[in-house]
Parts: sequence; structure tokens; C-alpha cells
Amino acid sequence: MPFGTQFAGKIDTLCKALNVEPNAVFIARPTSGGVVEKHISPLLHEIQYKYTTMKVILTTLAALGDPLSATACAVLASYSEDQKEAQLLDRASNDAEFHAKMCKDGGMRWVDMFDSFKSLVGNVPLEIFLMLVPTHHARLYSIASSPAASKDEIHIIVSRRVMGEGENRRKGVASDDLSVMPPGSSLQFSVRTCRDFHLPPDPRAPIVMVGAGSGLAPFRGFWQERMAMAKVGQPLGPAVLLYGCRDELGSILNKELIMAQACGAVSLVITAVSTRLPKRYIQDHVVENMLALKPILENPKCEVYMCGSTSMVKAVTSVIAPTKPGEVWLQKLQSEGRWHEDVFGGPESNI
Ligand SMILES: Cc1cc2nc3c(=O)[nH]c(=O)nc-3n(C[C@H](O)[C@H](O)[C@H](O)COP(=O)(O)OP(=O)(O)OC[C@H]3O[C@@H](n4cnc5c(N)ncnc54)[C@H](O)[C@@H]3O)c2cc1C
Repeated sequence: MPFGTQFAGKIDTLCKALNVEPNAVFIARPTSGGVVEKHISPLLHEIQYKYTTMKVILTTLAALGDPLSATACAVLASYSEDQKEAQLLDRASNDAEFHAKMCKDGGMRWVDMFDSFKSLVGNVPLEIFLMLVPTHHARLYSIASSPAASKDEIHIIVSRRVMGEGENRRKGVASDDLSVMPPGSSLQFSVRTCRDFHLPPDPRAPIVMVGAGSGLAPFRGFWQERMAMAKVGQPLGPAVLLYGCRDELGSILNKELIMAQACGAVSLVITAVSTRLPKRYIQDHVVENMLALKPILENPKCEVYMCGSTSMVKAVTSVIAPTKPGEVWLQKLQSEGRWHEDVFGGPESNI
């Protein structure tokens, strides 16, 4: 699947700056023979000895949304014909703080390289570009379904990332592609098992699920699993869902949650909509509902699950265990493997 389709409009400009026809077929191979190892250049390693085109490379392999690495800056500096630009690249190559500043908020991306450093246009040899440009890394998405509900399918919930504002506005590469992908499209993926994030072996054990945004994903799998158990008459322990979001839940999830509540798969849903006024976050609801939550949390079989950003997990943890005895309780849960976190950070925004 093309990965990073948002850069499709830039391919011709990039090819022009590299003096190569986007659709010209070529084979890359080391002049000295042998093979290019992956650690030397992941991209050359991938394309060597295969017929390909720049258009294919730039739309499927090159991570054009990534920032120029310090190494790339050092090499590119030597091809710059502008003293100022060369100095800038040189400094970015050997001053880590300066490099981080340049890359902050989506700066110095490969896709913008010839706009940011005009003196490089027409001066970077194709083989140098191919040697340096990184390949896409895999993005992780939590499975948001249970085989009990959809045997041959895997569902994911993706939050479409938008970072920065104005000129610095950037769309997340994978989340944007996934969001605009037409139904029926194919994509490459692999499934990894998460060791820690599973329902308790005893279905009667109480569970508390805390999630924000796409952090709801694993809990959908949980309630689907518990709905299937309820259907066959399995007695279930209480299950509380504390969910934080910017907008109301979509209708599909809402409908499913109502059904989950009706059959006892979820016993209590507390939703914190942060765009509603007054602004309230999950931690505020935890504090407000502590009387109802306390007996569940203190049950010796209770398992707590947190999924979402680092800041959300930190904020909720601090109100669940605000005191010294609370800390001891938390440590006990952690040591007994009853406290589970699936944390993914980064700036989050939905469009
Ligand atoms: C264990 C785990 C589970 C996950 N589960 C889910 C899930 O179920 N659903 C989900 O939606 N996501 C999930 N994620 C996050 C997901 O893997 C991706 O990180 C997310 O979708 C963003 O990828 P992207 O390609 O869209 O963004 P990218 O293109 O990779 O951009 C994101 C990064 O770019 C940088 N950046 C670029 N421009 C700017 C700018 N202007 N300002 C600031 N920073 C900028 C930042 O470092 C930012 O973090 C999970 C992550 C982990 C680790």
C-alpha cells in the first residue's frame, strides 16, 4: 500500500530536484558488487537488484515525513552551494540541541528538504539521496475487537493525528493514510501479542478500564469478549469504563456500549468529554465517583487497565492513589500483576 500518500503531490518536485524521471525504471546495485546491508541503508537494502522507479520508492518506501538525521545533515552540507545553508546543515549535524530545535514541530522533513535548502536542488546525487533517506517504521495499533465477536476480522480505532498549526500543520503519516483509505484497500500488517493487556482469568474479578481517545481500542475488545461470555450465562464481575474524549462517542461504539451495558458486560460507563463546558477530564470524574469506585478498586481481585497518553495515565494514577496508603495499594496491584498500562504518548489531535 502507498504509505504517506499525503506527499503524493510532492513527488514530481522531489524527482525534478534529484534530476530523475519519476517513472523511469532502474535497478540500484553497488558499483563494487555485493549487497548493501540494512544497517548501512535500509532503503538501498530494500530496492537493490530490483526493477523500480522513483515514484514507487517515494510513495511506498521513503519516510518523507521523517526529519533529516544528523548524519544526513552532515552529508547534505557538503552538497550545498550556499554558505549559509551549508553552515546550518553543518551545525545541525554536530549540535544535538540545535538539531532537535530544527526538527521540532515537524521541521526539516525530507519532503521539504529542497524547499528548506534551495541550494541542494540539482546538486544531491540520486545514490546519496537513496543511501540517506529512511524507510517507514511500523506503527502500532491496539486490537479493538474480540475473535468472539468477529472471528476473521481485526478492528482498530485510529485517532487521525494533526500536529502543529498554520504553516507547521502536519498530518500523521500512518493515521492519515488509514483515515482516508477507501474501503477494500489492502495494507501490510503483522499481529503482535501483548503479554500484559488481557482480561483477568477469572471473569468474576472486577475490572476498571480507563482510556482516552483511541485508548478505548483494547476495551472494545474486552466488552465484546465479555458480551460473548454473558451470552452463554457466564457470571461476570463488575466492569467500569472511564472514557475521555474530545467529542461524543461515534454512533457505532455508542450502540455497542449500550448493548454491553444491557447484558452486564459493562456495568458503569463514565464519559469525560473535554470539549464540553465546564472542561472536565477523566481524573475529575475519578475523584467525583470515588465513592462508587472505591469498593471495586479495593476488591482483592480487581484489575485496573489504563490505555492512552502518558499524561492521562499519570493524571489518573495520581488521583486513584493520591495518598501514602494509596501508593502502597498501587504497588501491591503492580506487584500482583493487577495494574496494566498500555501507554502511547505524543501530541494528539483529531480531525
Ligand atoms: C503500544 C501502542 C499502541 C497504540 N495504539 C494505538 C491505537 O489503538 N490507535 C491509535 O490511533 N494510535 C495508537 N498508537 C499510536 C500509533 O502507533 C501512531 O504513533 C500514531 O497513529 C501516529 O502515527 P502517524 O504515522 O499518524 O504519525 P507520525 O507521522 O509518525 O507523526 C507523529 C510524530 O511526528 C512528530 N511530529 C511531526 N510533526 C509534528 C508537529 N508539527 N508537532 C509536533 N510533533 C510533530 C511527533 O514526534 C509525533 O509524535 C499506539 C502506539 C503504541 C506505542
